[in-house]
Amino acid sequence: MASNVIQIQKSELESVFNELGLSAVNSGTCGKEWKKADPKAEKLTSYNPATGEALADVICSTEEDYEKVTQEAQEAFKEWRKLPAPKRGEIIRQLGEAYREHKEALGKLHSLEVGKITSEGLGEVQEVIDICDFATGLSRQLYGLTMHSERPEHRMYEQWHPLGVVGIITAFNFPSAVWAWNSAIAAVCGNTMVWKPSEKATLTAIAMQRIAHRVLEQHGMTGVMGLVISKDKSLGEKMAADKRMPLISATGSVPMGREVGQVVAKRFGKSLLELGGNNAIIVMDDADLDLAIRGIAFGAVGTAGQRCTTTRRVFVHKKVQKELVDKLVAAYKTIPIGNPMDNGTLMGPLIDEGSVQAYEKTVAEAQKQGGKLLTGGKRVDLGGGSFVEPTIIEVSKPLDIMQHETFAPILYICPIDSIEQGIDFQNDVPQGLSSAVFTEGMKNAEQFLSAWGSDCGIANVNIGTSGAEIGGAFGGEKETGGGRESGSDSWKAYMRRQTCTLNYGKSLPLAQGVEFL
Ligand code: NAD
Repeated sequence: MASNVIQIQKSELESVFNELGLSAVNSGTCGKEWKKADPKAEKLTSYNPATGEALADVICSTEEDYEKVTQEAQEAFKEWRKLPAPKRGEIIRQLGEAYREHKEALGKLHSLEVGKITSEGLGEVQEVIDICDFATGLSRQLYGLTMHSERPEHRMYEQWHPLGVVGIITAFNFPSAVWAWNSAIAAVCGNTMVWKPSEKATLTAIAMQRIAHRVLEQHGMTGVMGLVISKDKSLGEKMAADKRMPLISATGSVPMGREVGQVVAKRFGKSLLELGGNNAIIVMDDADLDLAIRGIAFGAVGTAGQRCTTTRRVFVHKKVQKELVDKLVAAYKTIPIGNPMDNGTLMGPLIDEGSVQAYEKTVAEAQKQGGKLLTGGKRVDLGGGSFVEPTIIEVSKPLDIMQHETFAPILYICPIDSIEQGIDFQNDVPQGLSSAVFTEGMKNAEQFLSAWGSDCGIANVNIGTSGAEIGGAFGGEKETGGGRESGSDSWKAYMRRQTCTLNYGKSLPLAQGVEFL
C-alpha cells in the first residue's frame, strides 16, 4: 500500500547527520585520532529498520586498526590512571554536558537507526547523560574499607585500582546507553577502553564516539575511549581472547555470552556479562488492574519487545484472568504502529527481517504447542521496514517455547492459583533478569521479594519489568550472566581490590600468633 510507505524526510536526515558529524561514508575506527575513511575499504551499510533504506556506509576496522586502537588505549592508560579520580570525573561531567547539547539529534539518530519511538530515543540519550552525572559524583566516592588489624601497631585497609584497557561489546537495542554505563564508570575508575558496538547500530556508535573524542581532545586525553567496528562478531572474538584486556564487558544474547565467557575465563580475564532475559509479571487477584495493564503494555510492547527487560510472560490469578485479558487485548488493538518519528506512534519496527522471521516462527510454534492466539501474530505491511503486530498468546500452562527469549513483542499469559505458583512458574526458566508482581497485598509483595521469591536480578512491585533507573545495579542471574552494571557499587567490577597492611611498629608479629625466627 503505497500510501503507507514511510518516508524519512531527506532534510531531517541531513540535519541529524550535519549536527553529529556523520556523512554518507564514515570511518568506524578511532583511537588517538580518527582513521580517515577510505571509500575503497570494506564497508558496512546501516539501514533504517522503518523503511529498509540505507542510511550511510561505515568503513570497517581491520585487524591492524584493532591493534593500533588497543595499543593506543594501553598508552593512554599510563596517563589516565595518574589523573586524580575527581579530575577524571570532571571530564566525564563535561562529556555529559556535550551529550545534553546534542540530545535531540542523538535521539533522532536512535529512531533512524534502531527504530526507537521518539520518546524512547530521547530517553536513551537521557540515560547516557544520567550515567555521566552519576559517574561524576562517583569519582569522589571510590571508597575502600579500613579494618582493625589483629597485630599491634599495624594498619589494614583496602584500596581500589583501575584494571587497564576494558573491552566493551554491545548489543543493538541500547546502542548508546549500554556503552555509557560501561564507559563513564570505567573511565572515572581510571581505565581506558575499546568499544566494539553492534554491527546493526554503527552510526549511533560513531556519533557517540565523535562527541567523546572531542571532549577528551580538549583535555589532551584522546585514546582513553577507542572504537572499532566490524561487520560481524570477529573483532569481538579478538577482544575476548586479548590478554591486554583484563575485563571484557559484553552485552548481548545468551549464546554470545556463553562463547565470550569461556574464552575470557580460559585466559583468567574478568568478564561482565549482561545477557538475555525472559521476564515475567505476576498479577494477583488483589492487584490494581489498570496499573497492571499499563505496566504490562509498556513492558511487552515498548521498544517493540526488543528490550532485555521486555515482559514476555504474565502469570495472572484465575480470578482476574478474564478481566485482565479482555482489557489487555483491547489496549493492544489501539497501539499505533508505524514511523517511530511520528507523534503518537507507540510501536516502531523490529531491527531487521531476521527478527520478523524469528517472530513468525515463534508465533507458529507457540500455537503448535497449544497456545491460543488472542491478538496479533502477523507482520504489518507498511510498504517497507520490519513491522509486526504486538501479540498475545494465552496458555493453560507454561509451554516449552516459553523457556526461550524471542526478541519481539510476543506475550504469553498463563493462569495461576496462588503467589507460590506464580513465583514457581516465573523462576522456572534459564534466564533471571527482571521480574514484577502487581498486588495491593503486603504478604504477596514480601513473599515475592523474599529469599524464596523471585530469583532475578531485578524484582519490582507494582512497576513493570522494564525501564530501570541508572542508580541501581543492573543485571541478572543464571543465563543472564550474573554481571551488574550502572549504579550502586557496580563500579567495583571495573577495579581491582588491593588489601594493604602497614606495620608502623618495631617488631614483626605474625598473624594467627604463628612463631618464626
Ligand atoms: P548479539 O548477541 O547478537 O550481539 C551482541 C554483540 O555481541 C554484538 O556486538 C555482536 O557482534 C557481538 N558478538 C556476538 N557473538 C560474539 C562472540 N562470539 N564473541 C564476541 N562478540 C560477539 O545480541 P543482539 O541481537 O545485538 O542483542 C539482543 C540480545 O542482547 C538479547 O538477547 C537481549 O536480551 C540482550 N541484551 C541484554 C542486556 C542486558 O543488560 N542484560 C541489554 C541489552 C541487550
